[in-house]
Amino acid sequence: MSSFKTVMDVFKLLDKSNCRACNEKTCLAFAAAVFQGKRPLSDCPRLDAETLRQYDGFVEKKPTISDGMDDFVAQLKKQIRQIDLAEAARRVGGVFANGRLTLKVMGKDFHIYSDGKMASEIHVNPWVAIPLLIYVMESAGLPVSGEWVPFRELKNGAERNGLFVQRCEQPLKKVADTYTNLFEDMVHLFNGQRVENLYEADISIVLYPLPLVPILICYWKPDEGLESSLNIFFDRTVEKNLGVDPLYSIIAGIVQMFEKISLRHGVPGA
Ligand code: SF4
Repeated sequence: MSSFKTVMDVFKLLDKSNCRACNEKTCLAFAAAVFQGKRPLSDCPRLDAETLRQYDGFVEKKPTISDGMDDFVAQLKKQIRQIDLAEAARRVGGVFANGRLTLKVMGKDFHIYSDGKMASEIHVNPWVAIPLLIYVMESAGLPVSGEWVPFRELKNGAERNGLFVQRCEQPLKKVADTYTNLFEDMVHLFNGQRVENLYEADISIVLYPLPLVPILICYWKPDEGLESSLNIFFDRTVEKNLGVDPLYSIIAGIVQMFEKISLRHGVPGA
């Protein structure tokens, strides 16, 4: 029996017409859903019976988002060539000029060119690049509501919350516990804004991983035998402006970035 090792293994079988008969916006989005075991291959009515007989039900393991990430980025770049970047800029809070869309990612300029190439002021790993490209293609562009919600309360967030805590909140708390300049760096290097301490936190900072996707980081220092604590909150509109899977990916990518910064400053075990 065969299995799909990457999103591209599924994508190659599709006719790439982006006809939307499967209710996904693109064939690539459908391929990702099949790869993640969320949709059966047979949901694409354009596949012939022989292909379905050969491949349907061949997702043998629950894949991780890191499988085939570079291939996925390459395919998303191809898809980006087909969209109107000027319209996308208006929708997602960017600027279009001289044939390129410019977005602020954590306060830094990120450029996407009409031919799909990308350039930025900071190194962007695939965990960030993938959601960024999905954001440009699919974001509803809703204005930020100001209603903060935890990850578990977002649509489809509850089932992924354990992973989110393990890969995002706990590692960032560990960095905050040991790297005392973390929150200063967030403000000065990444254009973060200190806000009134919400939920009785000792520190509350708002960052913008993407223009319409603010995050609120609340940190409680250790106190009288109680461990420190860190939680990340999201604007309610993130469900439509990005979606839970790309959101998880971009936060995991940003946490990895802060882990690297703290290591560069010689913080052991961060
Ligand atoms: S129905 Fe098939 S061909 Fe049409 S968008 Fe979905 S995956 Fe692509």
